[in-house]
Amino acid sequence: MDARQPVIFPVISGPPSAPADGPLALYVHIPFCETKCPYCDFNTYAAIEPLMPEYVAALASEIESWGALLDHPQIGTIFFGGGTPSYLPSSDIETLLTTVRGEFAVAGDAEITLESNPGDLDAAKLAAYLDQGVNRLSIGVQSFDDGLLAMLGRRHDAASAVSAFEAARAAGFENVSIDLMFGLPNQTREQWGETLSQCLSLEPDHTSLYALTVEPNTPMEHSVNSGELPEPDPDLAADMYLDACDGLERSGYSHYEISNWARAGLESRHNLAYWRSSPYLGVGPGAHSYVSGHRFANLKSPRAYIGRMADLSLDDISGDPVAVMRRDGPVADVEEATISIEISDVFMMGLRLSGGISARAFEERFGMTVRDARAEQIDELVVAGMLVSDEAGIRIPHDRWLMGNEVFVRFIDDSISSPALPR
Ligand code: SF4
Repeated sequence: MDARQPVIFPVISGPPSAPADGPLALYVHIPFCETKCPYCDFNTYAAIEPLMPEYVAALASEIESWGALLDHPQIGTIFFGGGTPSYLPSSDIETLLTTVRGEFAVAGDAEITLESNPGDLDAAKLAAYLDQGVNRLSIGVQSFDDGLLAMLGRRHDAASAVSAFEAARAAGFENVSIDLMFGLPNQTREQWGETLSQCLSLEPDHTSLYALTVEPNTPMEHSVNSGELPEPDPDLAADMYLDACDGLERSGYSHYEISNWARAGLESRHNLAYWRSSPYLGVGPGAHSYVSGHRFANLKSPRAYIGRMADLSLDDISGDPVAVMRRDGPVADVEEATISIEISDVFMMGLRLSGGISARAFEERFGMTVRDARAEQIDELVVAGMLVSDEAGIRIPHDRWLMGNEVFVRFIDDSISSPALPR
């Protein structure tokens, strides 16, 4: 099957469906990093630390505004991402969490995650996070090989990553995730095996493994183009991915999403909201949201964001909340989520999960069966062995996850931009 064939969608018109009821997932963007890693194209910056106080005030103001505009809805998960949230003083995290709790109904069992750099984590900071209610820590380890960490421009070494993990456990964190990268220039399969072994020996509750992508206009792309670094080998990266699947499965982890493994019951609830196309609100520059039938994103520049929030006055908050925040606040791009767009999102995000797309949940949400929505694509993919379809729903067989992109591309709605994971 040629995945480049144009996709013909049935015409489905009408307003967006009511997305699954339930609490919002809240993403809080922290755009500060002590140094900028040469491979990174996230909306995050080094050497803007003087902006931190104004930035935290602007963020608190955006949180208060959304709380009022959305009438203080329930929040099921909070995720501090970036950037490097652990680079902020822990008192700023406390300020932000206090603001969220004042404006939203935060569920008693809310999952509250904070992304961290190993070099930032000491006993005092970890204790402060726990006091504030942070109950899930994600540590950006990336590798346990000092040479590869230096090549990646990371500001920690393998020993400090181990110390940070052990400090998190000693402080009392019961849900700790480790992020690793593979398919790196000059990385051998043996080095990857050693990094995996080191990771498993720490017994994290969750792990996210990402293949390096050399992003355009990054210093790493320049190094690859100039021959200073070899281009990553996709076949070797595929072998590394399969090695990880084997090792983690043998150690009892559930491979619940293409790039994520967890101990039973410790899957990332926040990221599951994205993969299940449930509503989420992102605050901070460049953050994406999917609320009230709209998909939208904030302007990207932290300075412009601070200026915009300083000018915001919510004296008149009548009308559509997203329209208000576009007119007076930091929202820059808005896209109406038609049923056709929502369905494409559900296919492209839901098929990343081991459980795939639930037939019953899909029908409850859209009033049609999964097959009614995309019969042609489903039938072709089933014949090609790329999709399983049964009464439970549809999913990509585990042994085809490496080729997931060939499936996702079949469900792209030409009218939308890519539903990349929000940040
Ligand atoms: S620490 Fe993370 S967010 Fe910051 S520059 Fe490095 S990869 Fe990007």
